[in-house]
Amino acid sequence: MVGAGVVGMSTAAALVAAGEDVLVFESSDVVMGERSAGSSRIFRLAHTDPELVRYASRARTAFDGWSTRAGTPLLDPCGCVVSGTDAPDRARAMASAGAPHSFDLADGTLPTRSVEGPVLVDPSGGVLDVDGVRRLLSAEVGTVVHHERVTSIDEGTVSTPDGIYAADTVVVAAGADTPALALPVGIELPQALEHHVRFTFALPDDGPVPAWIDASPGRVSTYQHRTGPGRWSVGATLPSSLVSWENGQEAASVASERAVVEYATEHLTVDPAVLDRLYCTHAPDTGDGILFRRSGPVLAVYGENLMKFAPVLGETLAAAARDGSTPPDLG
Ligand SMILES: Cc1cc2nc3c(=O)[nH]c(=O)nc-3n(C[C@H](O)[C@H](O)[C@H](O)COP(=O)(O)OP(=O)(O)OC[C@H]3O[C@@H](n4cnc5c(N)ncnc54)[C@H](O)[C@@H]3O)c2cc1C
Repeated sequence: MVGAGVVGMSTAAALVAAGEDVLVFESSDVVMGERSAGSSRIFRLAHTDPELVRYASRARTAFDGWSTRAGTPLLDPCGCVVSGTDAPDRARAMASAGAPHSFDLADGTLPTRSVEGPVLVDPSGGVLDVDGVRRLLSAEVGTVVHHERVTSIDEGTVSTPDGIYAADTVVVAAGADTPALALPVGIELPQALEHHVRFTFALPDDGPVPAWIDASPGRVSTYQHRTGPGRWSVGATLPSSLVSWENGQEAASVASERAVVEYATEHLTVDPAVLDRLYCTHAPDTGDGILFRRSGPVLAVYGENLMKFAPVLGETLAAAARDGSTPPDLG
């Protein structure tokens, strides 16, 4: 296994539960510290593809299983609201997959002055406790994680500065580094990267609030949710000219902060002073879909927004690692 993000850790947990010998290589000192960093994420069934709605439904059930194992709820079932242009497409996909949904949003539900355009309410959505997920997976498979950087992968071998390791199967779940690591064995994945920053603001009222994906016409498109007591975090999808890889992290962070603070000032009821920032690399060409690629014993996975699928994605990868198959792409 290459990478101890949520995908690698979830896959390792499923493989260990199946009685397999597993070794996870992680280049940093911590687990779930790159794209899986931070305390929380949005969970939702609301996708534009019925297949992804069904996969997320399976993940919802699997998160209940993780909550039981953790002895604490890992999903706050506060729901998720989608507003704007693609809400009808998501509603159609949810209807086709038999997922519960509605179009009724009471005034004052969200910390905003107004919601524009069509609205979709996903009552199965909510906010994932990523700290809790990290604690659970570290307790279950932390001992099989080796903090060594993988320098190359060949057919059935993994090289690190400390040695060369042979394996029946090598699962590459190295997040942003997966395309470059998998390319030498003939696996091609989207290479493009952008910078992304999520910003946290103070939320005046601290009752339950649904997560929100706001693509209201005329606004920058955002996702936002409660990330702790009195805290509301907002990330925006910005034009690539503002967050391009070539312009660098600093320029992208400044441009992102300007755009998100402007959005918060104009549309939200939060205090628009930034309390916290969470940076990550973002793959602009993958959307909500998941790509699986295999070359002999090497199986690679790549996608965005994978936290919400993590428990079921780990099972999918573990099954494919054991039987030599390649899961079909999703979405
Ligand atoms: C700000 C932000 C908001 C998000 N919001 C949502 C959301 O609301 N809902 C949702 O579902 N998802 C969301 N996501 C996306 C989701 O968190 C990620 O898709 C998911 O965590 C990715 O997990 P991963 O295991 O694929 O990658 P990562 O967590 O990046 O793990 C890959 C690991 O591989 C390691 N690695 C890399 N190269 C090597 C190497 N050569 N050798 C050894 N180890 C290596 C890295 O150090 C890293 O730990 C968000 C992400 C961010 C950052």
